[in-house]
Amino acid sequence: MHAASISENFARIKAQLPPYVTLIAVSKTKPVEVIQEAYATGHRIFGENRVQELVPKYEALPKDIAWHLIGHLQSNKVKYIAPFVAMIHSVDSFKLAEEINKQAEKNNRTIDVLLQIFIAQEETKFGLSSEELLALLQSPEFQQLHSIRVRGLMGMATNTDNKEQVSAEFRQLKKLADEVKKQFNLPHFDTVSMGMSGDFLLAVEAGSTMVRVGSLLFGER
Ligand SMILES: *Cc1c(COP(=O)(O)O)cnc(C)c1O
Repeated sequence: MHAASISENFARIKAQLPPYVTLIAVSKTKPVEVIQEAYATGHRIFGENRVQELVPKYEALPKDIAWHLIGHLQSNKVKYIAPFVAMIHSVDSFKLAEEINKQAEKNNRTIDVLLQIFIAQEETKFGLSSEELLALLQSPEFQQLHSIRVRGLMGMATNTDNKEQVSAEFRQLKKLADEVKKQFNLPHFDTVSMGMSGDFLLAVEAGSTMVRVGSLLFGER
């Protein structure tokens, strides 16, 4: 049987996405040569979930790649990615936001961030509740972080075959994003990062503007 090439995979997934949805190609665990193959198709936006893996890939690969940090981030690692990271999807505490702000200032940049929201019905460790999100956005300390730009929300649905449940979780995140946009003066708030290989079409249907797809592009990890 013919195994689809990376360029065929990119073409197939992109054909399924509306033009306003950004595709983050999740290249975690994949070697630099594989990312180069994807880069050769014209793709420039890649996602990694570990700082230790992201930094050497950034160093080895062309500098016009926009690197997104999508996984849980410890405050003490922010300094390694602050010089170059395009967006951090996993901000889930004031402490982390404050550290990103500090490192952005040191690098004379503004760093785009998403606030990670806990939407799943399972024991996952990370993400703010909607109450915690509103409290964070309302706090004067957070509002004084001028070197981060809050671009939107990120969430991961429950890992289940129940499409109704997954769709409901995505709709809940989209609704929360709409409420935040109404209630707060956040001029750059335009992103809802939701949807992975198994559920990106449901996410798009529910209003996703950014999908994070790994295994459908690069094969199983
Ligand atoms: C690995 C990962 C993805 C991509 O997962 P696939 O199922 O391979 O598409 C998306 N988001 C996050 C946060 C991840 O860690």
